Amino acid sequence: MSKIRVLADHVANQIAAGEVVERPASVAKELVENSIDAGATRITIEIEAGGRRLLKVSDDGEGMVRDDAVLAFERHATSKIRETDDLAAIGTLGFRGEALASIASVARVELTTCIEGANAATRVAIDGGRMRDVKDAAHPRGTTIGVRDLFFNLPARRKFLRSEATETFHLTNLVTHYALAHPEIAFTFINNGREVVRAAQAKDLRERAYQIFGGEFLENLLEVNSGEPQVAHVTGYVSAPRDRRTSRDSQYLFVNRRFVRDRMIGRSLTEGYRSILPHGVYPAALLFIETPLDEVDVNVHPAKTEVRFRRQSAVADAVREAVRAALASANYVPPPIQEPAHFEMPEPPPRPIATATAAVSSIAPQPRIEFVPPPPPAPVSVPPVTEVSGDEIARDIELMIQSASSARSAAPELPPLNSAEKFAREVTLETLSANIRPLGQLEESFIIATDDEGLLLIDQHVAHERVLFDKYRALEAERRSDSQQLLVPETFDLTPAQAAVFDDLAPEFESYGFELMRLSGRTVAIKAIPADLPRGEARNMLSELLDTVDAEKKNSARETMRDEIAASLACHAAIKVNMPLAPEKMRWLIDRLLQTSSPTTCPHGRPVILRLSTRDILKGFHRI
Ligand code: ADP
Ligand code: MG
Repeated sequence: MSKIRVLADHVANQIAAGEVVERPASVAKELVENSIDAGATRITIEIEAGGRRLLKVSDDGEGMVRDDAVLAFERHATSKIRETDDLAAIGTLGFRGEALASIASVARVELTTCIEGANAATRVAIDGGRMRDVKDAAHPRGTTIGVRDLFFNLPARRKFLRSEATETFHLTNLVTHYALAHPEIAFTFINNGREVVRAAQAKDLRERAYQIFGGEFLENLLEVNSGEPQVAHVTGYVSAPRDRRTSRDSQYLFVNRRFVRDRMIGRSLTEGYRSILPHGVYPAALLFIETPLDEVDVNVHPAKTEVRFRRQSAVADAVREAVRAALASANYVPPPIQEPAHFEMPEPPPRPIATATAAVSSIAPQPRIEFVPPPPPAPVSVPPVTEVSGDEIARDIELMIQSASSARSAAPELPPLNSAEKFAREVTLETLSANIRPLGQLEESFIIATDDEGLLLIDQHVAHERVLFDKYRALEAERRSDSQQLLVPETFDLTPAQAAVFDDLAPEFESYGFELMRLSGRTVAIKAIPADLPRGEARNMLSELLDTVDAEKKNSARETMRDEIAASLACHAAIKVNMPLAPEKMRWLIDRLLQTSSPTTCPHGRPVILRLSTRDILKGFHRI
């Protein structure tokens, strides 16, 4: 007896839905893409209960005639391509013809649509893939699709949905992306009856970014505009190096105005910042890559968020160089001299040759960057980084070395940083004694000290970070956080994504001594900040945390989130590198460090103290 059978359409659709419809935001993505493809100038997205109860997208695009409105829900029904050859150059966002069929198979969908000049609009109702009703209705030119009760017929999938706050966060993020990619379209986003985003038609990306993020965000951005139209033309904005983020959440990447998550582009962006941003710190970016349609394959993934470039490395180079050029034009890096084609080839550190020196000295001094480049990973304790291959670590170290040597190009050559690991070792808790005597400072960043076993180097920033972290955690646990009132409250604008999590997180911030007040819309006033935190750091810190601590973490591990807040506070309030310290201050810092829970590692897991043992010194001088 034969055992193979062809699956019924509704089963096939539900299987396809597994790939296309992961969560409410993926439904919104398909619907918004359809509206854009239909030539809309106005798109409204309305959600209830994080998009599970209702997700509705309306547009004023070209609409559909009745036959098309019914056919649109068939699998592989599309108006966007006809032949295989069309796949080679896709100019629309959709083309697979499976989104509506998939969505309708796992929800209750009602579509109302009308073309220009028609007598009546058409309304089609489908529940779990079954056509219920087709009739006349009233609707202006355009289309409205309401998706209710997502996964009502797939309880297992429904269980995988996250909290309302998380789904709303993803939806907000998605709307933000599309609004940025299409300034010419007016976007409105309504969450549980409240208008969260309202962006009128804008003349360009700058105006749109202003509508979405506010003026402050834009002030710190550098314009990117370079590359080759035949390969990749790169435009948009990237942040100045002083604007630090701890995640990639503020990176918005687009290929031919399709928003993508692409590791390669993300990596090239980071490479553009080599030597001016340390590992684990990310720039903000709005990058638009335009390539000829036949240079890019968008048919890689059902959700269409991944792309494949025909000339992958040329695109990577274009992105990296475009970012580099933007940084150079703002004097953050010297103007491009001859770049080595591949970093993988270990190049000798750049020599201060005549032209390079001239170029370097002719530009304004680089603003001081206030963070510590992380020391190279020591053999025993690699900092907890996710998704980093050995190659990447190796390259990061190489970049760090390059940066260290170029920063000192005028000074006598020092041995590369990572050779320290051969003789200066991380101090372990067991070998730490209370008898530490400070001698002075190296580069106004590291305290030089001695103990019974040799010479110590203490990273002043991370040491103070550890001290403050323990202090903040203790105060918070005892509910006696210290705060300083600001005479004039400081205001700042949340991005839509930050606004979505703000209300949930505000009480946590307040338990550390912040006093925050939500003003109208997305503006927040800071009325008080934790003691010790310099005033100018408050905004940066809040914004960074709102970007990274998402609602998910809040639900799963409150303690982890409290640690994150304390670590961020400590980092922002701690003594910086490049800061002279009086002997008493060094003494004070060392004493405090020794009283902490973990004097040898900072809250982010980096070493605090390195030791050059007397034994190794003696060996080095051939005395033993
Ligand atoms: P695809 O977008 O890949 O073609 P979909 O299933 O998303 O597939 O949509 C099927 C077809 O329905 C589209 O090709 C388009 O012709 C039509 N359609 C869908 N949404 C809209 C809309 N908002 N306005 C006009 N036509 C639409
Ligand atoms: Mg589509």
